[in-house]
Amino acid sequence: MVVPASPPHPRPGVLRALRLLGRPGFHLFLTGLLMALGFVLAHRLSERSGLEQLSALSTERLELYASNLAAELGRHASLPSLLAIDPTLQALLQAPDDEPARRAASRMLARVNVRAGTHQIFVATPQGEVLAASEALSAPTRLTEALAQGRVHFFAADPGTGSTDFYLLHPLRQASQPAGVIVVRFNLAPLEATWVDLGLRSQGERILVADDQDVVIMSSVQAWKYAVLDHADPSRRQALQASARYPQAIGPDLDLPASLEVQQGQQVKLPLPGGAAGAKPMLAQQRQIVPLGLRLVALSDLTEVRQRAQYAAWGGAAFGASIGLLVLYLSSRRRALRQLTQTQAALRQAHAQLEQLVDSRTAELRQTNDALKTQIAQRLKTEGELLQASKLAVLGQMSAGLSHEVNQPLTALRALARNSIRLLESGRPDAVSANLQIMDDMVERMSRITSQLKSFARKADEQVAGAVALLDCVRNALLLLEHRSRTLGLQAEIDVPAGLRVRAEANRLEQVLVNLFGNAIDAMRNEAERRLIVRATAQDGGRRVLVSVQDCGAGVGAADLQRLFEPFFTTKPAGEGLGLGLVISAKIVHEFGGTLRAERLGNGKQGMSFEFDLAVETWEATEQADV
Ligand code: ADP
Repeated sequence: MVVPASPPHPRPGVLRALRLLGRPGFHLFLTGLLMALGFVLAHRLSERSGLEQLSALSTERLELYASNLAAELGRHASLPSLLAIDPTLQALLQAPDDEPARRAASRMLARVNVRAGTHQIFVATPQGEVLAASEALSAPTRLTEALAQGRVHFFAADPGTGSTDFYLLHPLRQASQPAGVIVVRFNLAPLEATWVDLGLRSQGERILVADDQDVVIMSSVQAWKYAVLDHADPSRRQALQASARYPQAIGPDLDLPASLEVQQGQQVKLPLPGGAAGAKPMLAQQRQIVPLGLRLVALSDLTEVRQRAQYAAWGGAAFGASIGLLVLYLSSRRRALRQLTQTQAALRQAHAQLEQLVDSRTAELRQTNDALKTQIAQRLKTEGELLQASKLAVLGQMSAGLSHEVNQPLTALRALARNSIRLLESGRPDAVSANLQIMDDMVERMSRITSQLKSFARKADEQVAGAVALLDCVRNALLLLEHRSRTLGLQAEIDVPAGLRVRAEANRLEQVLVNLFGNAIDAMRNEAERRLIVRATAQDGGRRVLVSVQDCGAGVGAADLQRLFEPFFTTKPAGEGLGLGLVISAKIVHEFGGTLRAERLGNGKQGMSFEFDLAVETWEATEQADV
């Protein structure tokens, strides 16, 4: 089955690394890394360039020392060959045992030695026996060995002076046969002294010359003299000691690497005499002087190079740190800008959502408002209708009494009218006048009753609240119920000041009182005592008045007391009660700014007390009125 190639996904490690970008911790790590990199790089570069410079300088000096040494040694290279053709020496070779010839040759050699500035010149047999010499001497032990090996030069120690001298050999021949050898001895101590002097002046530069046995025979540092360049084990050390090439004991190992190559610098550590801080780091370079079998080694102090590399490294670290900090600053700035943009976008979104929410809530509120307005309108309409219905119910109750109230005066009027006619016919005008006065009073009374009925039947919303005489309202209400009260023999006690005017609307206040009085009359219908007490008591420092209507009826039970102000709650038989009177009365009192309450009378009394409070408009001090 061939699996389709999926697009390359970044590896989890890369993802993690990408996620790390942008975190301050990572940036600090990056800064540290850049610092370390800067440190290492600057150190490497500075050290490398310092080493290159030092190496170039050292190579130049090495060449100078080499040519110096070669020139010193080569200065007298032609001297032996010139001496070889000297007749005195020729004569000596022909008669080597001839004493005068030897003396003559010795004198000549002494002269030449002085003039040429060499150390010694002597002539020896091929076996190494001295025939003539510039001064009395014994041939060095190495001479025999050098002659046997056919060498043209060698170094040998002089135990007397403690120096290593250079010997230049020139073979002499007689009839193509080896007849002897001319030996010129140089002392290299003066040259070495200049190196020591140079070394003392230039602390950073040291030089040494090692022979074919890797033993230092010349050095600007005296402590290194006759030391082994690399490393000598005890047997080699013993052999070197026994060779009698060196005037003093073999020194300690310098431990220079044996693989030092020409022109190539190598870092080594060498102990310096008197150096308290142990071995010193140095750059070693060497040059072979092949014809002489010597090695010239220059050692340059690396302290300064290392110090400069150290300074450069700290500079590099500072540079790396500043780059890291710059990256940190730029990335923090970028992150802050991104957060700002995100916050702005979120704010814009939240603002838009809020506006949307406000719009939708406003629409909901408008709908609710409209619904409420409709409900209120409906309720007002219903209340108006109920009010009217209640009035009609009261009117219905009153109709019987009314017909009685009106029929009685009408009958009386008719009787009085007939009586007046008869009195006129009999010529008694005074009696007629008295009759007419009674008739006028009766008509006045009837017109008062009908006008009350008219105002009661009118709808309430056309009327306005104002200052109303409470006593007048009480009297009017009692008048409306006069028929019933008279029938039952009601005893009314009115304790209301005549000068008290309350803030109300007269018709509606009368409607409330008619309701309360009517209920009281109904409650006392079956009682022996039928007493109605209406009282006005000042409240709140005379700013308000509490109107109470008390009866001595049977009252209501505790359960019914809770339900008195419920619409359509009635205990009266069907056709008599609607259960709306108290509801409407409470509402009217509420509209006047008061509260209607009901309570059962206690303390040995029976009956109910209905109370409501009203704002007082004026309260003039007058005498109490009793009906
Ligand atoms: P209605 O008179 O049409 O029944 P109301 O709201 O005026 O309606 O009265 C409700 C009920 O409260 C009456 O049926 C009656 O039982 C009771 N009630 C009102 N006033 C009194 C009172 N003074 N004494 C006893 N019961 C009363």
